[in-house]
Amino acid sequence: MSHTFSLPLEEALPEREAVFQDQGIPADVEVSARIESIYTEALEMFLPIGRPTGLWTPLSPTEFDGIFSGAGLNDPDAPLAKIYPRAANLAIFALTLGEEVSARIEQLFSSQEFALASMLDSIASLAADLAVARLSQDFARQLLDEGLTQPNHHVIEYSPGYCGWHVSGQSKLFACLKPEKIGITLNSSYLMSPLKSVSGVLVDGPAEIHRFKPTFSFCRACQTFSCVPRMRALDKEITA
Ligand code: SF4
Repeated sequence: MSHTFSLPLEEALPEREAVFQDQGIPADVEVSARIESIYTEALEMFLPIGRPTGLWTPLSPTEFDGIFSGAGLNDPDAPLAKIYPRAANLAIFALTLGEEVSARIEQLFSSQEFALASMLDSIASLAADLAVARLSQDFARQLLDEGLTQPNHHVIEYSPGYCGWHVSGQSKLFACLKPEKIGITLNSSYLMSPLKSVSGVLVDGPAEIHRFKPTFSFCRACQTFSCVPRMRALDKEITA
């Protein structure tokens, strides 16, 4: 059974510092008046058009096997291969900020307003991540309410196109989840439309199952190393 999700935009707004950091401006650097005004303009543009909407469907590890395998192009070291079979619960999901946000970013780039386009892009990307975190919390809360999980479990999301899970996994994920219902479509290059959308699998389980060393060959091309702070937090919890 599918569950829909929507969130007031105010609850998915990134911190100002996080936006500047995404723009490559470290927290200890003073922001110029021009950059500050671009930030304000981008935020004012975003507020009336961002609409976080999501969809998730629980499924068993066996049902997820075929989705994860996709077109058979996953890296043999993809950590998710060892994580999801040990999960207590799984759900595939998709979430979008809506067509208007992506259209506005594209329009700004087309009219060569690069600084404003890039600032709006940062705000939207971070908002999408925060909205996915809230969707994960909803999933965790529902599992707890139904007595299907433990309070010390973690729900972590993994997405096709990252960490060795080939992006072609999107095809089967979309065929099963049907995110067209909330306005997300997939093109032949597995790119989602609207662009500011996220999809993947929510994995619920104890901290141990989510731990791995990010030393895979594909990590050399990683631009975010987003698993590193997460791994530190999990390690801390396990050794506490
Ligand atoms: S370093 Fe990057 S590619 Fe490697 S596991 Fe972490 S997030 Fe994934």
